[in-house]
Amino acid sequence: MAHTSEFAFELRVCQWAEDDWPPAGGHEGPTIVARQLGTKRRRWDTIVVECDPAGLRQRAKFGEKRLDSDLLDIVPYAPAEWEWYQDALPDPGYPWQYVREAIHRAGDRGILDTRKNGNRIEIRRTYDYPDWVERIVAIENKPDLDASAARDLAPQLHRDVALGLADEVWVATAATGETVEPILLEDLPVDAGVLTLDVDADRAETSWHPRTLAVGEPGTQILENPGPSEHATTAGRFEYADPEWKAQKRLEIAERAYERGWRSFADTMRPDCRHFELRADETGFVPHCTAKGRTPTASECRHSCPSFEPEPPAWRSRGWPIEGGPGKGIKRLLADQRRRERPGLE
Ligand code: SF4
Repeated sequence: MAHTSEFAFELRVCQWAEDDWPPAGGHEGPTIVARQLGTKRRRWDTIVVECDPAGLRQRAKFGEKRLDSDLLDIVPYAPAEWEWYQDALPDPGYPWQYVREAIHRAGDRGILDTRKNGNRIEIRRTYDYPDWVERIVAIENKPDLDASAARDLAPQLHRDVALGLADEVWVATAATGETVEPILLEDLPVDAGVLTLDVDADRAETSWHPRTLAVGEPGTQILENPGPSEHATTAGRFEYADPEWKAQKRLEIAERAYERGWRSFADTMRPDCRHFELRADETGFVPHCTAKGRTPTASECRHSCPSFEPEPPAWRSRGWPIEGGPGKGIKRLLADQRRRERPGLE
């Protein structure tokens, strides 16, 4: 089976990681896999969140939806007994008015107890917010890792290593039957791992082991890279990232990964097109376009696709979601698979 597009490869990496992470053993607990997540400045192709089993189950009490940054400033700090919210919570560093709005949202979602005591809003925790994230791993997918791709990728990976937001940074590439040329590795930072994935067999090998990054220590955001010293025209621009900022960002990323997973491609693609199929093989499900005869990219398969044709109304009564069935059935199937990876969800 040919998987030419980066998108098709990315889905394979996600499926493999969900089934088999980590490549060299070690973490035995559950993992949450997501795609296209990160910070305002940096988005990774694949994110693997290694979870504490009991913590992940406890996290499910807060529901499928993520806790965004405002909710993360409240829910984990909610006291066991009723307390005025301004006494109970750390100073958020922004107006309390926004905190009150987030308290109401949390109350409406049933993840925080709230009540009025005179003019004062009091809060109490509904559930303990657990320490559910053990490690976060970032993977950049490059199915055709040749010398120029490695050179293009290198500055970005150097930035990832300098910031140290993820515990490990990897490049995943498709197996070609040959070993990864040492010359390619020379361009990549030694701290980044290289994973070689045989997409048809759903098997991966470690071609280079990554170094564990210091997520609990200050990191450096490289805003502007001066380039190789002999050609450098500027001194570069850097920003300091303190450990508290990093810890908060990591939790935000993990929460978004929990909500979105990696199967959210159906939300932006056109499963309601008559050419859209979800094909199952030994490695899992992948989207397939019968008009193109391959996995369409996410940017091809959207509203503006010239080959789009709506599914015939008669299909809507078939109720069989796998082969060319109703788009809603496909979305439901993917959502069910996502839920299966999040134990404890009701
Ligand atoms: S024809 Fe276009 S919209 Fe339909 S499945 Fe193929 S890529 Fe997607």
